[in-house]
Amino acid sequence: MSTDCIFCAIARGDAPAHVVYEDDHALAFLDIAPVVPGHSLVVPRRHVEGLLDQGADTAYAAMGPALAATARLLAYRLGAEGINVLQSTGRPAGQVVFHIHCHVVPRYTGDGLLRLPPRSQSAAGELAATHARLVGG
Ligand code: AMP
Ligand code: ZN
Repeated sequence: MSTDCIFCAIARGDAPAHVVYEDDHALAFLDIAPVVPGHSLVVPRRHVEGLLDQGADTAYAAMGPALAATARLLAYRLGAEGINVLQSTGRPAGQVVFHIHCHVVPRYTGDGLLRLPPRSQSAAGELAATHARLVGG
């Protein structure tokens, strides 16, 4: 727990939020500035800043049931036809609140929201070179 963390305060029940799901390990609530109605945040109850911090593996795992339950809610209650899950770790990735969380965004056909930028197939050898950097000796 972090005393000056807004998501810890929400998890404790000390700050207001529109909670849509909760269990022993995580909760989901509506993002205060939604991209589309239903845009939710899933957070583990235990404070971990991001994916590069100690405890990230268990914190991330703790979000699994909440992610699936929230996706189902958005689909069944709001009619979402698809779901994006976005996790940002670190300022360059856009992280603003430093309590690990996943955005769960309902998607609809033709909504024109998030999409990975257009790419072309990797040049010969490039994947192997990157692979070697990642797992080579
Ligand atoms: P990021 O750290 O960039 O992945 O995103 C943080 C998200 O938290 C933003 O989308 C904010 O709108 C949202 N947010 C910040 N404070 C609150 C709050 N008190 N209740 C709900 N959502 C919040
Ligand atoms: Zn926190």
